[in-house]
Amino acid sequence: MNTSRTSAEKNATQGHERLVYLDNNATTCVAPEVRNAMLPFFDMLWGNPSSMHAFGGQTARYVEEAREKLAALIHADPSEIIFTSCGSESDNAAIYGAAEVLGTQAKIITTRVEHPAVLGSCRHFREHGYKVVELPVDGVGQLDLAALREAVYGGPSLVSIMWANNETGVIFPMDEIAKIVKSAGGILHTDAVQAVGKIPVDVRTLPVDMLALSGHKLHAPKGIGALYVRRGTRLKTFLIGGHQENGRRGGTENVPYIVGLGVAAELAAKHISEEQTRVAALRNRLEQGLLSCPDARINGDVRHRLPNTSNMSFEFIEGEAILYHLSDLGICASSGSACSSGSLEPSHVIRAMGVPFTAAHGSIRFSFSRYNTDSDVDYVLKHMPGIVQKLRAISPFVTH
Ligand code: PLP
Repeated sequence: MNTSRTSAEKNATQGHERLVYLDNNATTCVAPEVRNAMLPFFDMLWGNPSSMHAFGGQTARYVEEAREKLAALIHADPSEIIFTSCGSESDNAAIYGAAEVLGTQAKIITTRVEHPAVLGSCRHFREHGYKVVELPVDGVGQLDLAALREAVYGGPSLVSIMWANNETGVIFPMDEIAKIVKSAGGILHTDAVQAVGKIPVDVRTLPVDMLALSGHKLHAPKGIGALYVRRGTRLKTFLIGGHQENGRRGGTENVPYIVGLGVAAELAAKHISEEQTRVAALRNRLEQGLLSCPDARINGDVRHRLPNTSNMSFEFIEGEAILYHLSDLGICASSGSACSSGSLEPSHVIRAMGVPFTAAHGSIRFSFSRYNTDSDVDYVLKHMPGIVQKLRAISPFVTH
């Protein structure tokens, strides 16, 4: 159990009594071990791994060590790992690379609840003549497997289906999905950005062709990601440049961040069971406590969910209003609404699930990490019921 807070977290309280960070699906703190491992690569070992001279070339070994550590986390061969700049690049590279190889006669199949990195990439190819199918989900966010079965037959297909949803934590049955896609001869990419580090991932037993992950969701810094590509998968290069990553991704390697991701992967493997036990228990205690607020509900399939994620609705009040009040107390969470557009529309995920209007607007997401503690949960439970009560009292949707 690791309950020590990073100094960055301590500094970030900004005058609040404390910082309670429950937005780990958005990003995570950099683990102290990760930061320490990265530091020498800024001021001592800053050479280019491709250099012929020993000073630069010596860093190549550290890149390969990190590749081995990351490969071990998902049980891949190190040669199947391509370092990228983020999860979005990994998703784009997978979809672009496979779609270009397959050509416009191929169907691209995805789901309505994907991250924009996947949905946007698929829709880009629709504009370029590909047939794109977006599969529906049911009321708890589970995939319609019958619709997938129907979609994959009748020609080549590229299927991109997320492993775990960033907003609800709902886990899709990847085993079943892989069986369906592979039996129809399709290529399968999974966006596992939210899954890796939270649930066991083993590409030896799960026949996905490609898998995207992102460093900043597992206590490495922002700006580093990876794409697993099963040996033999044909892929067109997405980022054209030098011969780095065996010619599969141009760009001088981000050595410090790659080293950081390697250490983060090692730590994730060590802590994976804590995610299912201690972290899940924190999430469950918060949820049970908050369900005692009137008209509160959980969004998403509670039987198949990431251990760290809770998406809840408090009917008749805006999620944003709750978030502002929480933020004033130093509590960080997220809402699913696209407030950047100024419209406060419920997110595409919540809409795809058909969550009723009055609940969709009050949806907020709490996401934990191994750095959270029982006292974080106590703090939220102390304040949240009062906030909900106060906002209900002024809600235009409630007849007073
Ligand atoms: N896919 C999912 C499911 C995500 O949650 C995210 C980030 O929130 C991404 C992809 C994109 O990852 P990155 O921020 O590293 O580009």
